[in-house]
Amino acid sequence: MSETLANLSSESRQFPPPEELAAAANVKAGAYEEAAADRLAFWATQADRLTWAKKWDQVLDWSNPPFAKWFVGGELNIAYNCVDRHVEAGRGDKVAIHWEGEPGDTRTITYAELLKLVSQAANTLTELGIAAGDRVAIYMPMIPEAAVAMLACARIGATHSVVFGGFSVDALSTRIKDADAKLVITADGGYRRGKPSALKPTVDEAVAKSPSIENVLVVRRTGQDVEWTDKDKWWHETVEQASPEHQAQPFDAEHPLFILYTSGTTGKPKGILHTTGGYLTQVSYTHNAVFDLKPETDVYWCTADIGWVTGHSYIVYGPLSNGATQVMYEGTPDTPGRDRFWQIVDKYKVSILYTAPTLIRTMMKWGDDIPAGYDLSSLRVLGSVGEPINPEAWMWYRENIGRNRTPIVDTWWQTETGGVMISPLPGVTATKPGSAMTPLPGITADVVDDQAESVPNGGGGFLVLRDPWPSMLRTIWGDDKRFLDTYWSRFGAGAGSGDEWIYFAGDGAKKDEDGALWLLGRVDDVMLVSGHNISTTEVESALVSHPSVAEAAVVGATDPTTGQAIVAFVIPRGSVDTEGDAGDQLNVELRNHVSKTLGPIAKPRQIMLVPELPKTRSGKIMRRLLKDVAENRSLGDVTTLQDSAVMELISKGMQTGK
Ligand code: ATP
Ligand code: MG
Repeated sequence: MSETLANLSSESRQFPPPEELAAAANVKAGAYEEAAADRLAFWATQADRLTWAKKWDQVLDWSNPPFAKWFVGGELNIAYNCVDRHVEAGRGDKVAIHWEGEPGDTRTITYAELLKLVSQAANTLTELGIAAGDRVAIYMPMIPEAAVAMLACARIGATHSVVFGGFSVDALSTRIKDADAKLVITADGGYRRGKPSALKPTVDEAVAKSPSIENVLVVRRTGQDVEWTDKDKWWHETVEQASPEHQAQPFDAEHPLFILYTSGTTGKPKGILHTTGGYLTQVSYTHNAVFDLKPETDVYWCTADIGWVTGHSYIVYGPLSNGATQVMYEGTPDTPGRDRFWQIVDKYKVSILYTAPTLIRTMMKWGDDIPAGYDLSSLRVLGSVGEPINPEAWMWYRENIGRNRTPIVDTWWQTETGGVMISPLPGVTATKPGSAMTPLPGITADVVDDQAESVPNGGGGFLVLRDPWPSMLRTIWGDDKRFLDTYWSRFGAGAGSGDEWIYFAGDGAKKDEDGALWLLGRVDDVMLVSGHNISTTEVESALVSHPSVAEAAVVGATDPTTGQAIVAFVIPRGSVDTEGDAGDQLNVELRNHVSKTLGPIAKPRQIMLVPELPKTRSGKIMRRLLKDVAENRSLGDVTTLQDSAVMELISKGMQTGK
């Protein structure tokens, strides 16, 4: 018997691309055929988007799977590709970054200015003894210097490890230790929720525990008082005084570019290693294809933090390699008011917006009238990343932000994949609300059963990637064994057809009747109710489709009769009354609503109305903690949890039955 996921929901709404956009699209339907005919030739063509100092001899070396080498023998410099070549091509005056500080201060940085800053920073890093191959930790707020620091590392061949600027001393020091970093680049602080929020004290404590750190480079952002040690150097006294002349040296295509730890949604974060040529090829191609970027006219804005892979691939390397003009915002979406995002879109005439379902659902909760007050007519492509987007959240995004005009690209990918793997193409795909649709050209994604057999349309199972891709992770830093165990042993060599190596993504998915892909949440989160595998995502989306619900998270809790029973945690929309009887009534109504939408098998045993859900720092729901609550266990690893008070609130409610 092979395991499959029950397929409970169906969606008939479909939105073809706007005609004008389709006619002028960067990538047309032919790209799929081109890639299918010769995948390696397709990727070689995409690699030609970049400027190589030495051309590669071989596109892919897969002789030692699953350790891939792409563009073997090729050499290039990433920073040259992201900055210098645009200046050399006469586009030095083009704006690279419109930066918006949370308090309202702004900076406009052209490509010529970016080149100066990156060159100065590269010279400073070299003076501080950083050489190619050394590791540098970056712990920064969302200020332009964060991108400059990353590019300066790439320029001199140092491997960066960006640690989200909200993480604790422990999270930072374990990441410094794991990578054996020599330098930390940080700031005194950054602005969050209207106040300066200090970073330096965390760094001081982490550095005290990290003998490998020789120097700490500190950007002055907030001007708050900081302790000073003999390892500390001010950015403005070093970088800003350094020579702006720096000759970028080429590095091997497989030179390590960065280590980045996964979000920790399912457990202990993994230090994912990405390298140079294949990574840049793929993020450059996908940024151009998925967002239909027209560098001369578009203003692009990705709201992610630079501490996540989305910030790496779609704020720094993808957009800058394509010569984009982009917005970078320092702060939170509700400071000074809940309209900040729409104010920014209106102010900079943002044409491409890339954000996360957690934010879209928050905006839904805050109410339609907030975006309605702004001119959002500049928007022409909307993107989503990070979690499955519920169909109702997708529709809300389309109607209230896209004003029923703009395509939505729901992009599925992971820290490990480096770039987007599954997504509509905005000028080609007729989209369905809630579906990531189809693998991009050059990618072979599939849904398989536990025997690695492809499931038919209408079936569900495990999401896998069948062929290596240029921006794939090369290993888990310092832990090849965990790399093999986590991604390659589930369907190890010999599974599928012969000697195929199949990448196990850890996510559940289904194919609908047309073969479009629907992401169904983590495989670890799939619930087994009376012999049926039921996805968390489908039950959550059914709940979110009720007009009183803003967000929902469901888990399977051990149950004596059904094996597991569905327990749902629900955040009501702002205007909904949940006091006393009204709350009880809503509870009954929601359980019946799910039963009606998906069938009685999916009816939650219990629904808890809660004010918040536990999320990672990147905004993803941490179901494993809710499961601990639902099963009355003590909580597992909470180091990547955004707000620990949330769990107390939820646990208390669980005990009192409220
Ligand atoms: P960890 O691996 O440590 O648990 P994580 O998986 O949350 O952390 P990331 O690499 O940031 O770390 O997230 C990738 C995951 O996010 C995917 O595996 C998937 O579960 C989810 N995801 C990202 N984009 C989408 C999307 N468009 N649709 C559905 N799920 C998505
Ligand atoms: Mg993961």
